[in-house]
Amino acid sequence: MTLLQKIPSATPLLFKDDPSIESYSQDTMMQATPDAVLRARDIQEIKEVLEYCNAEKIPVTFCGSQTSMTGASVASEGLLISTEKLEKILDIGRLQGKAYATAQPGVIISDLKKTVAHEGWFYPPAPTSQDNARLGATVSTNATGEDSLQYGTTRKYVREIKVLLADGTEKIFSRKPEESFPDELNRAGYLLSSSNPLDYFIGGEGTLGFIYEVTVDLVPQPPEYFSALIPFPDLFSAIDFTISAVTGKKCHPRAIELIDHEALQYMKTHPAFPKNLATANTLIYCKQEYENEVDFSELEKILPPQAAQEMLIATTEKQKETMRLLRHHIPNSLNEHWRKFWSRGGGKVGSDWWVPVPKLKEMIHYVEQTGKALGLPFMIYAHVGMGHPHVNTLCKNGEEKCRALATLLKCCRKAVTLGGGVCGEHGIGKIHRDLLPIQCTSEAIEKMIQIKKEWDPHWILGRGNILANVG
Ligand SMILES: Cc1cc2nc3c(=O)[nH]c(=O)nc-3n(C[C@H](O)[C@H](O)[C@H](O)COP(=O)(O)OP(=O)(O)OC[C@H]3O[C@@H](n4cnc5c(N)ncnc54)[C@H](O)[C@@H]3O)c2cc1C
Repeated sequence: MTLLQKIPSATPLLFKDDPSIESYSQDTMMQATPDAVLRARDIQEIKEVLEYCNAEKIPVTFCGSQTSMTGASVASEGLLISTEKLEKILDIGRLQGKAYATAQPGVIISDLKKTVAHEGWFYPPAPTSQDNARLGATVSTNATGEDSLQYGTTRKYVREIKVLLADGTEKIFSRKPEESFPDELNRAGYLLSSSNPLDYFIGGEGTLGFIYEVTVDLVPQPPEYFSALIPFPDLFSAIDFTISAVTGKKCHPRAIELIDHEALQYMKTHPAFPKNLATANTLIYCKQEYENEVDFSELEKILPPQAAQEMLIATTEKQKETMRLLRHHIPNSLNEHWRKFWSRGGGKVGSDWWVPVPKLKEMIHYVEQTGKALGLPFMIYAHVGMGHPHVNTLCKNGEEKCRALATLLKCCRKAVTLGGGVCGEHGIGKIHRDLLPIQCTSEAIEKMIQIKKEWDPHWILGRGNILANVG
């Protein structure tokens, strides 16, 4: 019997000879098959498994739904522990006047949002992948989403986590009500500016421990909102609108998402794509709350007249959901299409850098210039309202991908020069570790290595994520 076959789990493990292990062998960007998979049902079971793996120095990776964009949730060795069976919402209540929800790590974000909404509360984080992404994982990546423009990142809502360390020790990390913390998009690695270990686990990409319970703050249900798809004649007029909407005082959007001309071609493949937007060059998908009656006037004040006239508004739940699905169709169809080129070493190279919104124009000029020099198709879409649009370069083979990755490094250096970060929401995982030194000094990286060694001395957890294995 191998060491892995002796893992003391009550739930039977999946091993490499079982064809169903295939469904745990890739995330959005990378393929790798672990030696075994545990779909754990019980925290005590995970505790005992970790004790054993730590003693035997068996690598352990955690995963939710494996929608990660960085290889962070895939493992090429050791044990993969999936949270898919740990999907209970344990409590929704109020403490010291504040509403909270406590849940297991495998709860799907859209299920959590729906359940708390029934009780009159709102859980704001809304990653585009919310119908798949699981709570523990979104804490581990400090996920954001379209509504983060108004409501901030996942970090802002994490009140407490219960964790199993590499050796199975249980720990609780929480945030005091008055404690301050930076509510900005991620930069890279552990958040060294905080002295609360909670902040190392948020965005820690499964490298420090297993999050087995999460308590998040809830806020009262927000007012009604409308969604809009706004056509622009070109990319830079959409960027101008974004900058004035975010930095001015006339309009307070909940979300501003960019869909450039190339991304629009993917959106158009959705059967619900509205015919009257067929000739648009670039779109902005925007959401705005209103108090009493639907009021477009704030938005109209800063829109070019033609855009104000042609924009498509959604006010009913059904219309808004259709617009959300249209927006979400872009990454879904893009990822599905470009995954076909993996076998030739190609696929998409996606950026996750961000810049302060006033620097967006300079950054996008740079992206266009470097993109043209590269000579490969690329598209820009998503969270532009936070200075965080994703640039996806489309590569047919390994040679193109190498060149696209070199261009990504250049763009990340530029983003850092402009005061931004290299990975706003996806993390670094395994495939973007070379971004860490662009963002962090060697002293900061050394400090991260010390933190990792302190919590996981044998370096068994999330091996290959964020830091190269120097254990
Ligand atoms: C179409 C699409 C759209 C997306 N849109 C967004 C977006 O808008 N915003 C955004 O932030 N991200 C987005 N993502 C990326 C991804 O969905 C998020 O990173 C999400 O948080 C991952 O959730 P998951 O359940 O799939 O986790 P996985 O991919 O399985 O895991 C992600 C990370 O969490 C760790 N992890 C998982 N569970 C635990 C646990 N219990 N304890 C410790 N570590 C754990 C894993 O080891 C890994 O490092 C998108 C991805 C896709 C494919």
